[in-house]
Amino acid sequence: MSIETKNIIVEKVKTSKIDQVDFDNLAFGSVFTDHMVVCTFKNGEWETPTIMPYQPITLDPSSKIFHYGQSIFEGMKAYKDKDNDIYLFRPLDNFKRLNISAERMCIPQIPEEYFMNSLTTLLQLDKEFIPTKEGSSLYIRPFMFASGNGFHASPANEYKFIIACAPSGAYFSGKVKVLIEEKYSRSANGGVGFAKTGGNYAGQFYPTQLAVAKGYNQVIWTDDSTHEFIEEAGAMNIFIRINDTLITGPTSDRILDGITRKSILEIAKDQGIKTEVRKITVKEVIEAAENGSLKEMFGAGTAAVISPISSFGFRETDYDLPEIENSFNQRLKKIITDIQYNKSEDKFGWRY
Ligand code: PMP
Repeated sequence: MSIETKNIIVEKVKTSKIDQVDFDNLAFGSVFTDHMVVCTFKNGEWETPTIMPYQPITLDPSSKIFHYGQSIFEGMKAYKDKDNDIYLFRPLDNFKRLNISAERMCIPQIPEEYFMNSLTTLLQLDKEFIPTKEGSSLYIRPFMFASGNGFHASPANEYKFIIACAPSGAYFSGKVKVLIEEKYSRSANGGVGFAKTGGNYAGQFYPTQLAVAKGYNQVIWTDDSTHEFIEEAGAMNIFIRINDTLITGPTSDRILDGITRKSILEIAKDQGIKTEVRKITVKEVIEAAENGSLKEMFGAGTAAVISPISSFGFRETDYDLPEIENSFNQRLKKIITDIQYNKSEDKFGWRY
């Protein structure tokens, strides 16, 4: 597609860092591309976005981000196909979700053309950083935060919108052991669980550390009021297969409306897999584990795509999931990644 650059200021790096990137040993999100997008909201409006060399940013100690946590982000990826053409996956959904998060956190909305034009211009400039190795991609992190100053506990009057990108290898894809959490909550009714705001993730670290100390990799969040319903798997949506039905909870105030989740639901339906979007109780999952009808559990999100769960702990008992052939999770992961990497027809119209 052609890119409209007239409303973007571009300051290119003098020397590229590309030679310093070890494309054969990429971790996830730890080395960055040459450029970043920075756009400032000031005096009630967004200024012209600037693409500049990737660099540290300077903030006043009283910037409200540090004190009141007005910060939101998105996570998306750019993929290269065998002809080196570049694709995004449902990017307008990330754009829309960023503004949903923005509204909840009293951060000004970013206009679509600012988001999309600066993103696509940045990707053209840094396209050599998009890895080609199987499973790798360019992880893209658009974010916004309160850069305005003052200790007064109120929304800031200045914000930054930034896009930074990191060439990344495949996310940890081993099978994970999870612990169903009954004390701590990720989110609450009327809260901010549906928004991708920093504090949601900060609040997860401690309960996750406690679970890790007990030998688990991740926490399964349950609802805050009763802890009877399964909600999310760490920072991923969760799917549970009982017999041949694939179940995931409904999105709500407490659950992030994941793009992978909704794509998997559509692909599964298209594949003739029976899906149910409904509340699912811990009790039901334990009964299914005990009577053998629990076949699969997996997390779904942009970073890992699908992360299969090998066992779950509840109170003092661990329940193992069976090893199964032709699992839904492998089948669905192949279909979604083939669409992302332009290896198959895009019947849903998701590639960009
Ligand atoms: N839930 C939470 C809490 C998340 O942070 C994420 C990652 N963005 C997801 C679910 C999955 O969302 P997506 O598929 O859009 O990456």
